[in-house]
Amino acid sequence: MAGRIRRKLIEAAQVDAPEKDPVACRLCGRSITPAHLDLHHLVPKSQGGRETVPLHRICHRQIHALLTEKELARDYPTIDDLLAHSDISRFVAWIRSKPEDFSERTFKSQRLRRK
Ligand SMILES: [Zn+2]
Ligand SMILES: [Zn+2]
Repeated sequence: MAGRIRRKLIEAAQVDAPEKDPVACRLCGRSITPAHLDLHHLVPKSQGGRETVPLHRICHRQIHALLTEKELARDYPTIDDLLAHSDISRFVAWIRSKPEDFSERTFKSQRLRRK
């Protein structure tokens, strides 16, 4: 079940990705390997939104850890709005300073669980 949803997310993100470039996280700008790819609704589905952007799972989680769906829809419906949030801009500065394998380590347990 989770695997099927994951594949759909990856296919959807690849549609609007430039041909050879890896998918880039709209929040932190680093490239995203398929295992870490999430799609974020800029306006949450529950609030009627349809547009999605690719994000690292860790970046995506951070957004939802800080903001409710109502706040996202009302005050943070674009990436620029999100980056203007002080806690999110601090998170982005922090995650950008991490080595490439940082998110690998974070998600290893989930990958192992699926085996
Ligand atoms: Zn990211
Ligand atoms: Zn989201």
